[in-house]
Amino acid sequence: MPFVGCIADDFTGATDLANNLVREGLRAVQIIGVPSAADMAGLDAADAVIIALKTRTVPVDEAVAQSRAALEALKVAGCQRFFFKYCSTFDSTPEGNIGPVAEALLADLGEAMAIAAPAFPANGRTVLNGELFVDGVPLNESGMQNHPLTPMTDSNLVRWLGTQCRGEVGLIDHQTIDAGVEAIRDRAADLGEVGVTLAIVDGKDEQQLRVVGEAFADARLITGGSGIAMGLPAPWRAAGQIEARADAGGLAEFNGATAVISGSCSVRTREQVAAFADCHPSLGLDPLAIADNPEGAVAEALAWAEPKLSDGPVLIYSTDSPDAVLAAQSRLGSAEAGALIERALAQISLGLVDAGVRRLIVAGGETSGAVVSTLGIQVLRIGPQIDPGVPWTGARLSRGADAPPIDLALALKSGNFGGVDFFTRAFEVCP
Ligand code: ADP
Repeated sequence: MPFVGCIADDFTGATDLANNLVREGLRAVQIIGVPSAADMAGLDAADAVIIALKTRTVPVDEAVAQSRAALEALKVAGCQRFFFKYCSTFDSTPEGNIGPVAEALLADLGEAMAIAAPAFPANGRTVLNGELFVDGVPLNESGMQNHPLTPMTDSNLVRWLGTQCRGEVGLIDHQTIDAGVEAIRDRAADLGEVGVTLAIVDGKDEQQLRVVGEAFADARLITGGSGIAMGLPAPWRAAGQIEARADAGGLAEFNGATAVISGSCSVRTREQVAAFADCHPSLGLDPLAIADNPEGAVAEALAWAEPKLSDGPVLIYSTDSPDAVLAAQSRLGSAEAGALIERALAQISLGLVDAGVRRLIVAGGETSGAVVSTLGIQVLRIGPQIDPGVPWTGARLSRGADAPPIDLALALKSGNFGGVDFFTRAFEVCP
C-alpha cells in the first residue's frame, strides 16, 4: 500500500518530484490526471503515488475540485501522508491556485495548518525571511515577473500567499530552523494558535530543508517543492513507516527496438537532435507536408523507419530553428501548426510501438502530452534517472481486448532538460 500520496499542479513538476523520491529510496508511480479506481488498483508495489494534474493556471474552483478528487483517490488507496507539489518559483496569481488548493486539502483532511516550503536550493531557489530568490536574485527581478500566465511581481511569499488564502499566513524563519526540530514545532504551534493555516518556511540550503522535513514528518499534509519532499523519506524510514529500498528505481527489462521522437524546438533539444542525427538514421518532418496530407506524412515516416529499427535507434523530428518555426507558423497559424505536428508525432509514436519499438524517448513537454494521450497511457512507474529531472519510466499499454498488453519504456523530456548527448546516454542507462 502506498505511504505517501502526492498531488502535483503540472506534469513536469510531478515527474521531477517522482524522480527525486525514487532517488531518496521510494518506489514511485506517476498517474496522469485524476485516476479511476482501476488506475489505483495494483499500486501495492509503490511507496509513493504522484498524481499529475494541470491545475497551475486553471480557474481556482477547477483547481480546487480536481485536487480534492485526487486527494480522495489517494485516501482510498490507503495513503497516510499527503503532499501538494507546486513549482519552486511559487507560480501562482494573487487569486491562487496554491492557497485555495492547500486550504481545501487541509479542510478535507481535518487539519488546521500546513507548511508551504517551495525552496529547492539544489536548483538555486532559496527562501530567506519569507522572500524567494532565484540564484540569489529576488523572484520579482528574476524574469518570473514577466511570466505570461503567472507573473510573480512580489518576492515576499507571506504577502503573496496571504492574498490567496482565507486564513492567515505565517513564517517559520531560518533562525528558528537553525534552532532545531523542537523550536520549529513550537513556532508552528504558536502560529496555529493565532489562526495561521499556511506557514511559509525558509530554506537557504538542503540541510535546513532536512531539519524541516524531520520536524514535520508526522504532518498529514505538507505543501511545497521537490526540495522539502527530499527531506521526508529519511525520517519516515527512521520511524519505521517505510522500508529501506536499494533499488527503488528498478524497472523490468525492455527488449525491442528503440526510437526518439522530437517536437521540441528549444535550444537544448536542437543541440541534442543535431548530436544524435550525426551518428543515427534521422528523418526531419516538414510541417507544410504534414498540413497537406497528415495521414500520408505519418505513413511515409513509418515506412522510412520500419526497415531500420532492427539496426539501432532512429530519430524522427520536427525540431527546427526559430526562423523555420516562424515561417511554418505564419503559413499555418501557431496553434494550428503546433497541434498538427503534435498529432502527427503522436501517430508516428503509436505506429513505431506497433512496429516493435519498446524504448521510446519523446522530447517536448506538449509533444510528450500528445504522445502519452494517443498511446492511452495514464500510469507511469518511475525508473532510473537519465539526467536531473528526467527519469526512464515504465508504462503498460493496451492495444485492444484481444491483444496482449505492451510494456514500454518511455523517457519524456521537456525542452531544455538534459545534456547534449541526452538521447545516446538515455539508451545506455535504459534497463
Ligand atoms: P518544449 O518542451 O521545448 O516547449 P513542446 O513540445 O512543449 O516543446 O512544444 C513545442 C511545440 O512546437 C509543439 O506544439 C510542437 O508541435 C511545435 N512544433 C514543433 N516543431 C515545429 C515546427 N517545425 N514548426 C512549428 N511548430 C513546431
